[in-house]
Amino acid sequence: MARLILPCKSSCLAKTSLLGFISSAPLRATSKPRCLQNPVRYISKHRGFISSEVTFRRKYKFSYPALYRDKQDRRRLICAVATDPLPKQVEESKMDTPKEIFLKDYKLPDYYFDSVGFTFLLGEEKTIVSSKITVLPRVEGSSSPLVLDGADLKLLSVKVNGEELKNGDYHLESRHLTILSPPSGKFTLEIVTEIYPHKNTSLEGLYKSSGNFCTQCEAEGFRKITYYQDRPDIMSKYTVRIEADKSLYPVLLSNGNLLEQGDLEGGKHYVLWEDPFKKPCYLFALVAGQLESRDDVFVTRSGRNVSLRIWTPAQDVPKTAHAMYSLKAAMKWDEDVFGLEYDLDLFNIVAVPDFNMGAMENKSLNIFNSKLVLASPETASDADYAAILGVIGHEYFHNWTGNRVTCRDWFQLSLKEGLTVFRDQEFSSDMGSRTVKRISDVSRLRISQFPQDAGPMAHPVRPHSYIKMDNFYTG
Ligand SMILES: [Zn+2]
Repeated sequence: MARLILPCKSSCLAKTSLLGFISSAPLRATSKPRCLQNPVRYISKHRGFISSEVTFRRKYKFSYPALYRDKQDRRRLICAVATDPLPKQVEESKMDTPKEIFLKDYKLPDYYFDSVGFTFLLGEEKTIVSSKITVLPRVEGSSSPLVLDGADLKLLSVKVNGEELKNGDYHLESRHLTILSPPSGKFTLEIVTEIYPHKNTSLEGLYKSSGNFCTQCEAEGFRKITYYQDRPDIMSKYTVRIEADKSLYPVLLSNGNLLEQGDLEGGKHYVLWEDPFKKPCYLFALVAGQLESRDDVFVTRSGRNVSLRIWTPAQDVPKTAHAMYSLKAAMKWDEDVFGLEYDLDLFNIVAVPDFNMGAMENKSLNIFNSKLVLASPETASDADYAAILGVIGHEYFHNWTGNRVTCRDWFQLSLKEGLTVFRDQEFSSDMGSRTVKRISDVSRLRISQFPQDAGPMAHPVRPHSYIKMDNFYTG
């Protein structure tokens, strides 16, 4: 994943760190900070932390400006917020209080998901998501409860080995669905949920962007699509069927290779995608909409033809020439320098205007903020062209450093990002001037990273705990 970076101007983000989120990323270019996007929801969601912060401020009788006078005060505040007992209001809303996750608490999952099949019935008012999961217990004969993550979902049904579960067979909370006594051996789990992408303003999970459906699942967005073990060490083979209105959504994309497509009754159509390589759910992607593509072909060093497609609204296709050049250059460079060849027959890039991250390396279906794909000589600067080359390369290189070889848990984020940033820096250096690239990278570190590391939002490269994983994505 790559971020669009702008100078941090919002006091909201500074407060976020004081509220117990260990770090905060630079501002996202295409959206306001979440607390400004939907202030009511934000306050409601973080009421517990805001309450504890207000309590603390009253207790010590100083205002925010005073907090910044010396480092000692900052440390005291962060420490106090982290260790203060929960006030009564927080106890009342404990079900919705975000939980702190500790590195030391890592445990192997009790169950693995061998293969998963999803069906998406995309609609204007609601989308129905059906999953069929082959579940394997890690220890044969074990039947400990199976805990699935979920957020903002409406559960319609749960079946185990084809039989519908009754209320007493599972436990449903605001953030989890627990199957209380799963079979002791391999079994099939089927779940149907209803979601509302047109109302999803978090830009995580499945949402609408300028009339198109789009996903963002890193780090923990998949739990907004269906109940699942939303953790990177659950890797499965995915098959995805998408059904939608053909005139509204003529293009239906997901990961892997296209197996089938056809028309359905009522002006609908369907596609069936299969990704032959196991992947964690944060790399899942779906795009549906009115898009057109620039097409090209890359011949790998072993002689395979890989179809390349860059999808945008029709009027933007002429601005994708540099992005296509960058993709082909990255594929060739990874073969020449690292000996890594692309492993599927198709590689898609989609550019959308509403995208929180700068770009996302979903397996074979990279999704970009338009700013990092579109360029024309009339409007783009040299820096814009260089940024597109670097970020197209970065997301492509993740195909091996991050996707085929992935993280155990989110505490290992720096491994996939650090190595892939190194690779994209080497790529840009080889494609242009190594000296200019180095000066540019060091300037960025000094302007963005060093001030953060010297301030209240500093955190270790590998933290000991986190509340909201998103806050660890920094420059
Ligand atoms: Zn990345």
